[in-house]
Amino acid sequence: MTEHTELRIPYDDLKFISFECRGCGTEITMDISREDQLQADWENKGLRCTYCTMTFDLAVKHAIANYVQWYSLIKNSKQSVFFRLKKA
Ligand SMILES: [Zn+2]
Repeated sequence: MTEHTELRIPYDDLKFISFECRGCGTEITMDISREDQLQADWENKGLRCTYCTMTFDLAVKHAIANYVQWYSLIKNSKQSVFFRLKKA
């Protein structure tokens, strides 16, 4: 029998989103708690791999922007929100 232990993580413990570049495999990490900086970077350079400069799919950019907005709405609400992760 497999035992499951649930991990409970406050939303604001999650500071970074990482994703892998399809071109070179480099893992790109973004600090989602710094929305202003993210927006400025995207305006200047677009959303691209910092190693091979391959541009990421616009859907990825929209998804991250939506998540950053969600993060900021929760933060401003002062509501306690947790992610619940199952650990096998
Ligand atoms: Zn790359």
